[in-house]
Amino acid sequence: MIIDAHTHIYPESVAEKALATVIANTGGRLKAYTAGTAGSLMDSMNAAGVDISIVLTVATNPGHGNGILRWMKDAVTSFPRMIFFGSVHPHDDDYRDQIRQMTELGLQGLKFHPGYQNFPVNSKAAYAVYEEASKQNLVMYFHSGFDPSLPECDYTSLERFADFLNDFRGAKIVLAHGGGYDEWDRVMDLLGDKQCYFDIAFVLEKMKRCKDGRELYRQNEDYFIFGSDSPWRDQKTYVEMIRNSDTLTEEQKEKLLFRNIQKLIKI
Ligand SMILES: [Zn+2]
Repeated sequence: MIIDAHTHIYPESVAEKALATVIANTGGRLKAYTAGTAGSLMDSMNAAGVDISIVLTVATNPGHGNGILRWMKDAVTSFPRMIFFGSVHPHDDDYRDQIRQMTELGLQGLKFHPGYQNFPVNSKAAYAVYEEASKQNLVMYFHSGFDPSLPECDYTSLERFADFLNDFRGAKIVLAHGGGYDEWDRVMDLLGDKQCYFDIAFVLEKMKRCKDGRELYRQNEDYFIFGSDSPWRDQKTYVEMIRNSDTLTEEQKEKLLFRNIQKLIKI
């Protein structure tokens, strides 16, 4: 069994443009490994042996969360091997209703990207949304740390996350990218005791090579989950990197590939 907890797809009609925009924002440094559509993610999952992918979305402005929900209503039934997480913009007055619709649709989580959504992760305005989401027992999935497409942004800094995590201890929280791209020594210091989950999306190859990255994993092996960040990384390459690792034990591989995430979601 393999569950990829961090993938992205877009509605058919906008996928090409959406990928092109992200690539342009990073100055062409990113490469897409799928076409960004549900069908191309299915092909990638089949090639990699991934059973289930969690699809993460981001409402980039107030009101967008409702549009995402409308798209998901069909997608949820069309793609049973995908688990969809919704998204709410924290400045959306309608957030309570959107969270209610998510739970009615059976969604198990939602994603925040404070950089793209223009709010500091520990801003009190966002706390009302977090409180509502955790009341519904939803997983709150965050972009965490530096984002190469937003080099000046500190809304997802580790200090801000430490503050937020202190206030929401016990909620189901996942931080992407090992808690913060290339800052794994600081993740250990600032976030290592907060009982949140971390994915290895986009950073697996880097964490593997870095002493602090490996140590952060060792200290938190019950909290690390497999995510690729597809289309921005290739699912098959990531699966093989874990399967073929000679430093991870079989038990660690299982925890990473599917056991730990099942503490947060039902499949
Ligand atoms: Zn991502």
